[in-house]
Amino acid sequence: MKNKQTAKRQLTMRFMGLFALILLLMNLIFVGISVAFVYDYVSDRSEHIFDTIENGETSGQNWSNLVNNYVIQDEGEALQVRLSNGETYYSEDAAETFNDVSEGKTVPFLEHFVLVDDDRYYYEEKEIGDAEVSLIIDSEAITDITINLLMVNLLLNVVGLIVGAALIYWMVGRWSQKLSQMSAELNQLDETQGYLTVPEDPQEIYQVATAFNTLLEKQRQAIEREKQFVSDASHELRTPIAAIRGHMNLIQRRSETHPEVIPQSLAFIDKESKRIELLSEQLLTLGRVENKNNLEMIDFSSLVTQEVKDLQLSSGREIALQVEPEIYFKVAKTDLQQIIQNLLENALKYAPTGKIKVSLHKNDKINLQVADQGIGIADEEKEKIFERLYRIDPSRSSEINGSGIGLSIVKALVTKYEGDIQVGDNQPKGTIFTIYFPKK
Ligand code: ADP
Repeated sequence: MKNKQTAKRQLTMRFMGLFALILLLMNLIFVGISVAFVYDYVSDRSEHIFDTIENGETSGQNWSNLVNNYVIQDEGEALQVRLSNGETYYSEDAAETFNDVSEGKTVPFLEHFVLVDDDRYYYEEKEIGDAEVSLIIDSEAITDITINLLMVNLLLNVVGLIVGAALIYWMVGRWSQKLSQMSAELNQLDETQGYLTVPEDPQEIYQVATAFNTLLEKQRQAIEREKQFVSDASHELRTPIAAIRGHMNLIQRRSETHPEVIPQSLAFIDKESKRIELLSEQLLTLGRVENKNNLEMIDFSSLVTQEVKDLQLSSGREIALQVEPEIYFKVAKTDLQQIIQNLLENALKYAPTGKIKVSLHKNDKINLQVADQGIGIADEEKEKIFERLYRIDPSRSSEINGSGIGLSIVKALVTKYEGDIQVGDNQPKGTIFTIYFPKK
């Protein structure tokens, strides 16, 4: 099996990727805001200086005086005044700074910023009267603060990322450990016993473990039922086979001295072999019920009428029919025949006298009913008769040929078509079987 990534590794990687992306975006925003803030601050300062000079100019400026007495608020500020007559004045040490800045590089999008090697300057010029006034503000200190803040911020982000990743790794590890434990337990579970340990939390794992245990329990019950069925079926088959072998022995041992045993034993062998034949046929039918081939739109009304007529002929019994015409149903024809035959054969077997009535109607469902006036079914048996191989009081039924599979076939077929079967008492006596099929 290819080595799969563990949940904690996968989640940690995803978290780190996503978190790093968010941090990157936040830092970009931070850089943008800081640059705007610094630029604003310096250009405010520049505006203030130009305003002061302009106000002085209107009151008759003496440029050389102004530059000489220019109060340097900050060591990083330099002023240059160029007059139209060619005279140029510099504030203290400003000539050198202007010389350096003239060789610097401008910064894209920030028109007044100039970079000279590692130094950062703000440069602006303005015409005031007949003078061209230029100003340089050294912005290194303020940009340094911003860069340092950014660095601290980046460092904190990296620490946050590492701590966050470690926490996620640990937390997911704790949950996935429960899943790993579960899968280890699963590998060791015996198909007949043992359950998964159900953790209290997280809720999802609790639910999966509980659901799995419920399913396990159902599967085990189903397997148990299957085993029981196979053992019952083999028992049912073994009994007539043993009887047949007994009579064969009898014939072998006694037929010469008592030839009268031959017809007796042959009749018995015939009866028992028919029982085996019926049982094996029914077992095969039961095994094939799930098969959903050959579905077609069947004229249910005609089919019921035909089946009743056939059984009437073969049994010689009168069967009353009440069929609403043209009821159609999508079904495999043989399935529908099997249902009708099994119910009617039971009615004929368990109601040797009295009226048998078959009716078919359609309202919100298709409704098939077989009613007899026979021996009836006690309330406590009404559920059980649909179980495989179940026969009410075998001694009562021993005279009547049967295997206990007929009704389980009917039930399985009805369920296959999403229908329902109910059994009730007929009046004054007997049984009514009612089948409901959904209208299609
Ligand atoms: P069987 O082969 O024994 O008839 P079924 O599965 O068809 O098996 O029926 C199960 C049991 O239900 C029967 O053994 C019988 O005791 C009872 N039963 C079925 N149909 C009727 C009926 N119409 N009247 C009374 N009892 C019935």
